[in-house]
Amino acid sequence: MAGDPRGGASTADLNGGGVRGQPTNRPPSPTTLVTYHGCDQNTNISGMKREGGAYTEVGVLWRNNERGQTDRRLRSAEHRATPELTHKMGTKVIYFTVNGIPEQAEFPVDCPDQDVKDLFRSAAEAGPHDILKLYSPKGSIINISTSLEPNSPISCYRLEVVATDCTNEPLGAEMADLSSIEKRLQCLERQIQVVDGKTPSVVFEMKKQVDSFREKLENVEHLSWLGLFKDLSEGTHKPSPFYHKRTLQKTREECERVREKFLQMSSLEVSEDVRHYLKTPTFDNWQWEDAEIMVLLQVMYTDLDFIATFNIELEALQQFLFEVYRRYNNIPFHNFKHCFCVTQMMYGLIWLTDLRSKMDSINLLIMLTSAVCHDLDHTGYNNAYQINAQTDLALRYNDISPLENHHCAVAFEILQRRESNIFRNLSVDQYKRIREGIIKCILATDMTRHTKILNKFKSILPSFDFTNKEHKDLLMMILIKVSDISNEARPMEVAEPWLDCLLQEFFNQSDVEKLEGLPVTPFMDRDKVTKPSSQIGFIRFVLLPLLIELTKLFPCLKHHIIEPVRKALDYYTEMEKALEREQQVWTQSENVARSNEEDDGQDHPNSK
Ligand SMILES: [Zn+2]
Repeated sequence: MAGDPRGGASTADLNGGGVRGQPTNRPPSPTTLVTYHGCDQNTNISGMKREGGAYTEVGVLWRNNERGQTDRRLRSAEHRATPELTHKMGTKVIYFTVNGIPEQAEFPVDCPDQDVKDLFRSAAEAGPHDILKLYSPKGSIINISTSLEPNSPISCYRLEVVATDCTNEPLGAEMADLSSIEKRLQCLERQIQVVDGKTPSVVFEMKKQVDSFREKLENVEHLSWLGLFKDLSEGTHKPSPFYHKRTLQKTREECERVREKFLQMSSLEVSEDVRHYLKTPTFDNWQWEDAEIMVLLQVMYTDLDFIATFNIELEALQQFLFEVYRRYNNIPFHNFKHCFCVTQMMYGLIWLTDLRSKMDSINLLIMLTSAVCHDLDHTGYNNAYQINAQTDLALRYNDISPLENHHCAVAFEILQRRESNIFRNLSVDQYKRIREGIIKCILATDMTRHTKILNKFKSILPSFDFTNKEHKDLLMMILIKVSDISNEARPMEVAEPWLDCLLQEFFNQSDVEKLEGLPVTPFMDRDKVTKPSSQIGFIRFVLLPLLIELTKLFPCLKHHIIEPVRKALDYYTEMEKALEREQQVWTQSENVARSNEEDDGQDHPNSK
């Protein structure tokens, strides 16, 4: 490798020259990974001499920092490093990309497969439990081992972290691994001090690595979400609480803490300003924590006069809201905050359209309660997955809207218990009517029924009659559908974090689908989807046509929901153009680098 014309880190660089003495005229440089193992006693790394001792390292990751200097990291301490010997023995060079960034791995032909795997793991910055996949230029999967076929930068492989094995494993397990690394590091430090009398800088470097790894573990949910990293350490306006949660269902402690806070706060008076703000689609959910959200839901039931009209006891309402909170899972999108947003949009629409003057209170009670319950116990995998994976839900509901049927069933499970039954003082007939209405509304949120429901609504619009039950039922279904998918009608700073959450949930599903060999839904595939690409089609062909029909019945809504959605469409269209421009620039610079490389090759005929 000494003759690599791009001047990537080579074995020659290790000898004598020291790591900072590398040629600096290389192109924007790929990361080069080098692993060594051997058995020589004298090792000269980074100007550090060791005599007779067993200096051990298995993989050295070379990476150019912004200043064009080479930064080196020791990966683990298992084998002896012997650059001189390794160079003589012969090495293999593999070119590949991680997230589009070119990388280069170099390892001796006789090193263990595990070392090669560790090397690629380092390149992907993957954790010990992440699953790596290496693809050939043609897209077939290649086994990561010493027998990897050497390639060239033009025919480079593609490395991917497909998924993290994170089956509800508590953070503690990973932290335990980390502490064992720390212990080994301390042990190594002591050994070196015995030999040398002082701690070499390389040990400080390793300590820094362990610290930064810990920081990463604490701040992100999955290391595999490389594209959607959420750093919780900066800023406050974050859709954050889900990213570091470990279990799907809320823990008992978590629930109790929130319940206590909710009960304490529920006796406080909510200001008129907040009550007014709550009636507008510009309401920012990210400013409220879960206990506060429960208070706001209570305000909605109070201010729509449900408590007085239906004789709802405060204790029952609070217990109902708590059970609802408890039965929404810790997933990125379909969580309790989503439940609140949908309910708040429904509440806003009721006020903006003055629906109280047009429909019975019982219909409004059905609409608000349906919104509250519409995604109960969602596990983050959609109906297509449920059906393809033949989950318990799909079996139970015979592939017919498995999720929506389940959300509804959980709602009535909560309502069946006397202490959380907000309808317990209603007549049998009223309860029957409410049950029928809630089932209708929640089942209408299955997007596979979208076109059918919208077409039916369109057909009755010209003769819409508020005294016609069928018309009113359809309007209720349209209103919950609008509330469910109308994040884009909110201000951009409220809506955009929701898109990140949605994509996170989608990507998680498609990763699992790939792992399980199930059909992958294209709009969930992290390889195919970008933020603008996912939004533009959805807004143009699903959301806007739906909103336009609703505004035919309520022209006053245009300003509140159509205008912001059109703005969002413009925003994502611009974003898509910018991404295309960026892609063009990237392709051009890649072509230039490639032709320079070819020129270099001609200047140095022996460089291969
Ligand atoms: Zn929903």
